[in-house]
Amino acid sequence: MLDIKITRAETLKEKPEDSKLGFGKYFTDHMFLMDYTEGRGWHDARIVPYAPLTLEPSSMVFHYAQELFEGLKAYRTESGKIQLFRPDRNVARMNNTCERLCVPKLNPDDVLTAIKSLVAYEADWVPHSAGTSLYIRPFIIATDAALGVHPSHSYLFIIILSPVGTYYAAGLDPVKIYIEKEYVRAVRGGTGQAKCGGNYAASLIAQSKAEEYGCEQALWTDGVEHKYIDEVGSMNVFFVINGEVVTPDLSDGNILPGVTRASSIELMRSWGLKVTERKVTAAELFEAHAAGRLDEAFGTGTAAVVSPIGELNDSGKSIIINDGKIGAISQRLYDELTGIQWGKIPDKFGWTVEIQ
Ligand SMILES: *Cc1c(COP(=O)(O)O)cnc(C)c1O
Repeated sequence: MLDIKITRAETLKEKPEDSKLGFGKYFTDHMFLMDYTEGRGWHDARIVPYAPLTLEPSSMVFHYAQELFEGLKAYRTESGKIQLFRPDRNVARMNNTCERLCVPKLNPDDVLTAIKSLVAYEADWVPHSAGTSLYIRPFIIATDAALGVHPSHSYLFIIILSPVGTYYAAGLDPVKIYIEKEYVRAVRGGTGQAKCGGNYAASLIAQSKAEEYGCEQALWTDGVEHKYIDEVGSMNVFFVINGEVVTPDLSDGNILPGVTRASSIELMRSWGLKVTERKVTAAELFEAHAAGRLDEAFGTGTAAVVSPIGELNDSGKSIIINDGKIGAISQRLYDELTGIQWGKIPDKFGWTVEIQ
């Protein structure tokens, strides 16, 4: 069992009102830290007051982006318990990302213990209002003070926590999406399936382009032909075509394997829906729409859970999906996933993990 040394903050912050939370604006009183030193491995697990870090300007993370992260949430149930949703999946994915970025892996049990211990220690920060949660952000940075290009020999593993509001104050509002055919988020053999900051740095430019088209986010296409759909913004994407649910398959390594994606597939199959993982082209979506068979489209991810897509714009040519309204499958998926996460409906899959 991981031995965690705790240093308590001398003064605690005032907690924001639930209605003002937004996403990732406030941070709790404490954070978790653990060091990696070559020869010693991961060591000195500790919970300390949340505070700025002191790093050498030459730290490798600042220059070559050897950084990776995870994202999950703690939910307060109506009976006051706090639970996590499939945290083992995040921990396993973090180790996969470590492998891709040449970062030494962590013991999965230790990471789970660290997450649970920090959330339990900060339990008062898990907000109470409907739709709110405590966002958990584990991340690793390369800390060698050196400018040579090679994997770092030292790292810092950090977990910070942020109370977050509901994404949809006024119900699930479908978003407008722009199909990106110039820039790419990921290519085969690249880091698309790894959750790393570098992917996000490379994707920001498409966000501002989407806004020029009056859209909220970019739909990423493959880096070779700009023909196949990868993801939408920082979410996985699903389409309902003639009653069948279709989502891009993961085999090319361009797509981040979302925990919400995997859970959505399992859940929809349990309802008896046909869910197929395969290549999907943008052209196919426009053809299906013309034939009146593109029933629904939506993104999935931990932050928003399910985000319905109301409009797709391909270089100025735009189609409206389901009259710009949320579809029946998207709504049911949102209701059941959030129902399980907040403990409002029975968790027959065994996905939730109680903290206290
Ligand atoms: C984190 C992430 C997702 C969603 O994954 P979840 O585990 O469902 O939160 C999808 N795409 C990208 C690029 C991501 O970084």
